Amino acid sequence: MSKVIRFADRRVRIEDDSFTLVRDAGAPIAPEGDILVPLSDWLERRDALLNRAGKVGLWVSPSEDPKQLSGVLDGLDAIAIEFPKFTDGRGYSIGTLLRKRYGWKGELRAFGDVLRDQLFYMARAGFDSFAVPETRDAVATAEGLNDFSAFYQDAVADIALPAHRRRELAAREAKITRTLRQLKEIAARHPGAALATSLSAEDMVVTDLIARNELPIHIFTLDTGRLHEETVGMIGEIQNRYGLAIEVMKPVQASVDAHVGTHGAHAFYDSLELRKECCGIRKVEPLNRALTGRSAWLTGMRRDQAVTRGQLAEEERDTDRGMAKFNPIADWSWEDVLAYAARYDVPLNPLHARGYPSIGCEPCTRAVRPGEDPRAGRWWWEQRDSKECGLHVSNPPPPILVAAE
Ligand code: SF4
Repeated sequence: MSKVIRFADRRVRIEDDSFTLVRDAGAPIAPEGDILVPLSDWLERRDALLNRAGKVGLWVSPSEDPKQLSGVLDGLDAIAIEFPKFTDGRGYSIGTLLRKRYGWKGELRAFGDVLRDQLFYMARAGFDSFAVPETRDAVATAEGLNDFSAFYQDAVADIALPAHRRRELAAREAKITRTLRQLKEIAARHPGAALATSLSAEDMVVTDLIARNELPIHIFTLDTGRLHEETVGMIGEIQNRYGLAIEVMKPVQASVDAHVGTHGAHAFYDSLELRKECCGIRKVEPLNRALTGRSAWLTGMRRDQAVTRGQLAEEERDTDRGMAKFNPIADWSWEDVLAYAARYDVPLNPLHARGYPSIGCEPCTRAVRPGEDPRAGRWWWEQRDSKECGLHVSNPPPPILVAAE
């Protein structure tokens, strides 16, 4: 029998799944037993369905217009949203809509290609039940909800946490304390220090630490002109969440036009040299401009993000730019980042939930499968050891065709 993971009151339960999915509209329905029916059945046969013995839920395909759900939810025991493949993010939007706009308080279930690494994001979107395909281990899948246990720190003591989890939580707490102390020291030692945020989860964590503690650290981002709209949307999320208007650095348009005019809009696929030239124009030069006159900058880089970052120090010298460089969460794991985000309700780029652990420009980033190298989706056509954009290596910027204003 299939299993369902339930997440409520900080507790995770794994049960046999009582619901049967009635996939086809108009199919014969047994007189008893718990069922999930298509929306059209619910709209056309509601009374008959409610007179059966057993629970009635609705299953919704992400291709259906969620507006149809408005005003038709009374009487339902559950709503199940299908995730046909892990990169399909539409289910998150439908879940959020149901919870926030339509006020759905009942069971909100995810089913389909439900993976361990997605449970965190699904729970944040309001899902509280997860159908696990028979081919997957329900206990291993449920581990994806572990990070939420740190969110309710005041209640950790009343949860029967195993010793290794208690040690893990204590270690995370120590990392947060140490990182905050380091950020305060940087702000004191380097007035005008700036965080370069890529608007990824890591940089959102550092942004949250800076914003909530009102540290005098400047924050800017590089809008290359080729970012996903979800990434650009994070600039507004930061404004909404923290009342902070971060600085947005753009490339010199004449340099972009010259590069595109000579090599085309997708030259980065043609050679490493052209890819680095594009990164130089769209990222490195604006970064250099943003850092001019500063004595230090910060990043949200972590050691386990990439083979190229395995030796990353928390403090280093950026010799190219003649300034100090800090990577205050260098030793954080991805789980540390997610646990922090859950605990402090940090806004996250929705692309993370769609299989993008590392997010760059839209044409140069693809989703990765769980377990795949986190940077495998960046410049995926290149060798692993060349996957840096020039922001974090000694790499002179290209000539500026038009002086920045
Ligand atoms: S990541 Fe791709 S599009 Fe973005 S600047 Fe680099 S080469 Fe250009």
